[in-house]
Amino acid sequence: MKRPAAQRESAAGARPSPAGILGKASKATQATLAKIGIHRDFDLVLHLPLRYEDQTRLYRIADAPGGQVVLVEGVVSDSAIKFRPKRQLVCTVEDDSGVVVMRFLNFYMSQVRQLAVGTRVRMYGEIRQGFFGAEMVHPKYRVVAEGAPVAKQLTPVYPTTAGLSQASLQRLVGNALETVDLEDTLPQSLLRKLKLAGFRDSVRYLHHPPPVAELAQLEQRTHPAWQRVKFDELLAQQLSMRIHYDRRKQVSAPALKPRVELTRALLDSLPFALTAAQRKAAGEISADLTRAYPMQRLLQGDVGSGKTVVAALAALQAIENGFQVAIMAPTEILGEQHYAKFSGWLARLDISVVWLAGNLAAKPKREALARAASGEAQVVIGTHALFQDDVEFKKLGLAIVDEQHRFGVKQRLALRQKGSKAGARTQPHQLMMSATPIPRTLAMSYYADLDVSVIDEMPPGRTPVATRLVSDARRDEVIQRVRDACMAGSQAYWVCPLIEEAEAAEGAAPPPKKGRGRGSFEALQLQSVLDTHERLRATFPELRIGLVHGRLATAEKAAVMQAFTAGSIQLLVATTVIEVGVDVPNATLMVIENAERMGLAQLHQLRGRVGRGPGHSTCILLYQSALSALARERLKIIYGNTDGFEIAREDLRIRGPGELLGARQSGVPMLRFADVNTDIDLVESARNVAQDMLQTQSQVADTHLQRWLGGRQNYLRV
Ligand code: ADP
Ligand code: MG
Repeated sequence: MKRPAAQRESAAGARPSPAGILGKASKATQATLAKIGIHRDFDLVLHLPLRYEDQTRLYRIADAPGGQVVLVEGVVSDSAIKFRPKRQLVCTVEDDSGVVVMRFLNFYMSQVRQLAVGTRVRMYGEIRQGFFGAEMVHPKYRVVAEGAPVAKQLTPVYPTTAGLSQASLQRLVGNALETVDLEDTLPQSLLRKLKLAGFRDSVRYLHHPPPVAELAQLEQRTHPAWQRVKFDELLAQQLSMRIHYDRRKQVSAPALKPRVELTRALLDSLPFALTAAQRKAAGEISADLTRAYPMQRLLQGDVGSGKTVVAALAALQAIENGFQVAIMAPTEILGEQHYAKFSGWLARLDISVVWLAGNLAAKPKREALARAASGEAQVVIGTHALFQDDVEFKKLGLAIVDEQHRFGVKQRLALRQKGSKAGARTQPHQLMMSATPIPRTLAMSYYADLDVSVIDEMPPGRTPVATRLVSDARRDEVIQRVRDACMAGSQAYWVCPLIEEAEAAEGAAPPPKKGRGRGSFEALQLQSVLDTHERLRATFPELRIGLVHGRLATAEKAAVMQAFTAGSIQLLVATTVIEVGVDVPNATLMVIENAERMGLAQLHQLRGRVGRGPGHSTCILLYQSALSALARERLKIIYGNTDGFEIAREDLRIRGPGELLGARQSGVPMLRFADVNTDIDLVESARNVAQDMLQTQSQVADTHLQRWLGGRQNYLRV
């Protein structure tokens, strides 16, 4: 049991224990403390109570109120092991006002000896009327001398682990509060301005609140002392991400001046005008590209908001300056779509666009690689094959990552490194795109090292998708709807879900080799989509039905998608491979099976595949009844909201930030005290203070970071 704890301790970069409180503890205690995240004395100060017990007030037995936990004291007047109704130790305790019985169903013989007649005990528990009259069952108790003082403060109850008693923790923390430096890291003027309490007072209060404390405020973490601790935590997070952000400016990148001929030509050739939100995002990106340090910008926009054309404009600015552009998509289908779209847009401008995916045949792959390496390929579009070792660029100026949350941090880093020839401190600019909208506070908190552009407006002329929740028992009606839609000249999707395992993998890096490790699961899913395809073919002999899933060869996949785009396939049976990017405006109906098993973000993405043309679109969520309460709540959210940001906020509420952030969470410390859902004001003020502090009071920032992160402030080496 002790080994893993010790390992974790060293993994967290524990310093050689100083002579402090932990230094004096036994190796075993140190290991146990490490298990609950305590590696240095200061961690004890931040090990804040879960709740409190009120042992400040000693009641006379007769006066003790019922229905609450109370402290009473008396002398044992009778003590016996009884066997009816079952074996138990029963001690009668009296004071001058009354009698209460202590009852223990489990007890040691040492307790029997300890609680002999004549012993004075103090008990903490709830008094109820029971078999033996007024009684306390298994109270906390201790033997005391007459007149022993009561607690002056509420008693903290700490999160702990096996082998570490509350009493030991209380002692260790108490020690820490006496000996550790609790000097305020923030200047008085700042505290006054933000109306924040002092640090020392705050932590002392939280560990040992006075008897008059408002327990509700403490437990809901709204008390000013809590506010202070949360602010400090958020400030440390902001500072450290901001430092990382600033460090980027020491790396060089090609300064790409806008020359506008190509971008103008593209805009002129489009059948639509950019929305104001697209223009704004494109302007922000263009300005970043002119700088001599790498852009790291996240372009967020709901499904269908038109991110691709904004990315194309950025690509043109790099190309105009003689640099290459790499575009990486998380799936082949999406990559293919980008390839088709970019080829269409850019070929007219005499720009060479090359496709590079993992399962290209040897010869075309060799050719693609050669063209990337020679610089002849101006745009290279592909999947994660793009960041493999054999891929070389002559002059990579911009890397675009679509659906960035689907990639791991490592993969994006690898792509960025492509632009930097060995030894050179130059990196390409990086544009990340995501249709998983992240609520503002979460973005401020966890993406503080990135710049963010948001497309918060849909292209005109879209009619919102109507969502229907339909129980599987009413499948026949759904089938009729599909038939009607297709006969009327529309097209439809029938999506079979990724089930639980995949949800857990959502946002994780794709496996390096296809199917490895998840083979049996993939096979199962494949079976379900194949079965559905067969069934639907039997149901709809009159319709042209296509099938697409992850196991198809690239060329087959492309052919099916091509046929669906062209309208020769009317009903497309698919796995969630079509979740991202697929764009067929004539498809107006989507049926999603087992919708109750899917993540909200995923459902929203899928639903975004329809409603892309002028016609009215419908998304039918088929579910298996009976739904769990949680599943019902989730389906209600997707039913009631079409705004991806609203859905993401709800998702955050239900699932917590870890899930939403996906792969990114590795390397970013999760918040322990603050909550990005409720502490919105604190997040904002911490962000403002951090920016200011790094400019004008970097010494203060250093001290604060040292206190909060110790040696761990370099966690974000992205
Ligand atoms: P996403 O942000 O989900 O990647 P896309 O870039 O695929 O969205 O755009 C969705 C669809 O909207 C595409 O067919 C695209 O050509 C079209 N589109 C993009 N911008 C506009 C616009 N300003 N006006 C009309 N249609 C647009
Ligand atoms: Mg897209």
